[in-house]
Amino acid sequence: MPQRPYIVGNWKMHGTRAMLSEARAIDRAAQRLMKVEVAIAPPYTLIHPIHREAEQIAVGAQDCHEKEGGAHTGDISASMVADAGGKFVILGHSERRQDHREGNPLIRAKAESALAVGLRVIMCCGESEETRDAGDAVAFVTKQLKASLPPEIENPTELLAVAYEPVWAIGTGKTAQPSDIEEMHAAIRALLIKLYGEEHGEEVRILYGGSVKPENAAEIFAASNVGGALVGGASLTADSFMGIALAA
Ligand code: PEP
Repeated sequence: MPQRPYIVGNWKMHGTRAMLSEARAIDRAAQRLMKVEVAIAPPYTLIHPIHREAEQIAVGAQDCHEKEGGAHTGDISASMVADAGGKFVILGHSERRQDHREGNPLIRAKAESALAVGLRVIMCCGESEETRDAGDAVAFVTKQLKASLPPEIENPTELLAVAYEPVWAIGTGKTAQPSDIEEMHAAIRALLIKLYGEEHGEEVRILYGGSVKPENAAEIFAASNVGGALVGGASLTADSFMGIALAA
């Protein structure tokens, strides 16, 4: 049975306790939209407060460390995310790949650590503008994704989602063409089937991310193999975020 569309908000480094009212509004709206699975990844500091109040939405983290614990000042492990009420973690986001020089082997280790404590992983992938202009986008993204994903996952349908996020579309107002999204998502689907077999590979949701807004969401969701969206800027207010969820 196809899974529900998965709409995930990435709050990035936005959000103090003043944003809890927005999370409440998202949760209330999600209770009236049961056909869509809504989740938000706030900064670490808001995971537990949102988890305590949320009735419908899941809360998760934007990253985790690859180790279970130890002398890693300033880091947060997957089990700490789970302990705070987190249900998933976004990994491999291009801002982590760029700002923190995270490479595919580290991202894979983080994914293994998250899965080991039962967190769902949202694995991001995406090409730069230069790579797309050179005509290498599909080859680059499939290679990046294959190197970032754990080769074995117990229940990929439940525990994995992939987010295709062209780097040039994140926070820029530029969005990929539906035909380009379809081409990339088809290649990702083929890779997932190769890695995890037909049954799971067909079911894992592939999200699109990159300047998704209420105004362009319906067109994006109409593209084949789009199982939801990873939303940055437009997830910061309940109105725009739930406008996107409604379009799903
Ligand atoms: C993101 O950061 O994952 C993202 C897609 O951001 P935005 O929607 O702002 O482009």
